[in-house]
Amino acid sequence: MKQFLTVGNWKMNTSLSEALTLAQAIKTDLESTIMPDVQIVICPPFPWIVSVSEIFMETNIKIGAQNISSQTIGPYTGEVAASMLSDICEYVIIGHSERRQSMRENNETIGRKVVTAINAGINPILCVSERQSNDTEGVIKKQISSALVNIENPSQLIIAYEPVWAIGTGLPASPSEVAEIIDNTIRPELRRIYGNLPAANTPILYGGSINHSNAMEFLKEDSIQGTLLGNASLNPKQFSRIARLTAEAKIST
Ligand code: PEP
Repeated sequence: MKQFLTVGNWKMNTSLSEALTLAQAIKTDLESTIMPDVQIVICPPFPWIVSVSEIFMETNIKIGAQNISSQTIGPYTGEVAASMLSDICEYVIIGHSERRQSMRENNETIGRKVVTAINAGINPILCVSERQSNDTEGVIKKQISSALVNIENPSQLIIAYEPVWAIGTGLPASPSEVAEIIDNTIRPELRRIYGNLPAANTPILYGGSINHSNAMEFLKEDSIQGTLLGNASLNPKQFSRIARLTAEAKIST
């Protein structure tokens, strides 16, 4: 798995034709750009995954899902199992704060989803996100430890730190604040569970109101290995620009 990532989360946006136009524009924009160190991942809505994946077929752009079921098979109406996605998706976003909030996903369910993703060979992008609370450290550590309780080897794991108040608001956290949370809370918690090397090797992304103008400030931080983008991923020029900035910022790392 590559160490640096640009991940686009299209959420519940786009019609089929809009999704295909967006995917084609991203492909055209990035086709001639060689970025050996940066993995680009697009996470379309479920119904468009197959069609979008066909557009990216012979490119280095990978497909991710925005969610999976915590169950593996059976009578779970409306759910999508990791095994159903594993031929198409190499990544899946798990525990996004929108799902923690509106679908009442708890740490235990999220932990089961991480297990099902890894068992299906899909790399989980585990989102950890706190509201403005006076126990940021405690909340994030708990989200990490409970999501990973049954994961012995974190080599497929990616973490995305996304403060709830920064998502979709146009008000990003400050790059130094993000680096501090990664260095003093997220990475130490991974180190406590898995030891130094696996903790150092786990890519940690930032997400929350990133756009092409502010992206570089975050990417310049050594602690941050890439971005998870919502709104910016719906604009092909903006998304491609951020992917290129990632390559530029990380090229000599
Ligand atoms: C997100 O939803 O994961 C996200 C980062 O959204 P936005 O970039 O729109 O803040």
